[in-house]
Amino acid sequence: MKVFFGLIFCFIALTAQPTSAVAKKPLRILLITGGCCHNYSLQTQKLKDGLAALAEAEWTVVNEGGNGTEAMLSFYDNPKWSEGYDVVVHNECFADTKSPEYMRKITKTHYAGVPAVVIHCAMHTYRAAEIDDWREFLGVTSRRHDHQSNYPVKKTDVNHPAIKDMPDNWITPKDELYIIEKLWPNARALATSVSEEDGTTHPVIWTNKYGKARVFGTSYGHSDETFADSVFINMVSKGILWSAGRLKNKRN
Ligand SMILES: [Zn+2]
Repeated sequence: MKVFFGLIFCFIALTAQPTSAVAKKPLRILLITGGCCHNYSLQTQKLKDGLAALAEAEWTVVNEGGNGTEAMLSFYDNPKWSEGYDVVVHNECFADTKSPEYMRKITKTHYAGVPAVVIHCAMHTYRAAEIDDWREFLGVTSRRHDHQSNYPVKKTDVNHPAIKDMPDNWITPKDELYIIEKLWPNARALATSVSEEDGTTHPVIWTNKYGKARVFGTSYGHSDETFADSVFINMVSKGILWSAGRLKNKRN
């Protein structure tokens, strides 16, 4: 009997961890970045710095596709490419890659429940594709953008935990307004901007549910100035925490 209770005690001692220790476990982030048209080394550093102000994180950065518009990363050949990560941040720009088999290595992993944050040119990545899987994963369909300008951002879901602390009248540094042709049924706009060219309104921050995965997206993030903007980087950082279920208010 003594041995039995001794074993029970050991079991409890080994399995009971203080809640605070669990809460402080660093967030494990996989960042997919690179490709055309943007300063990814600066953007990566700003993302790390921004999140560090809010939470402890361990980043793994995959930047293997060069700086062109087409790439197929061998990284995704491993069917368990996302294993060990709490959230995947997509900040890549490969518009001319269009292989369905390649894209589905990525989307099927997210569909199974791996959370994601999608930034700027991720929306034009795989733009040449004939299948919609990537667009459904993003939550938006976009194929072009308006000129660079300083765009006012209007919050449309003021209570969402990822943006509730964001100023109401934020104006972007010089950035591109992505034209959103379609907001997918499981996506919800959190903020919008208006085209200076034709007056149409477009989601610029949104959430999406793709299979079991939470997705947080923003179409801004073109310029170095945007990534140096504390409002932008704080919004993206909160989006990372929200998608991974690390914000206190876990509203969908
Ligand atoms: Zn851009």
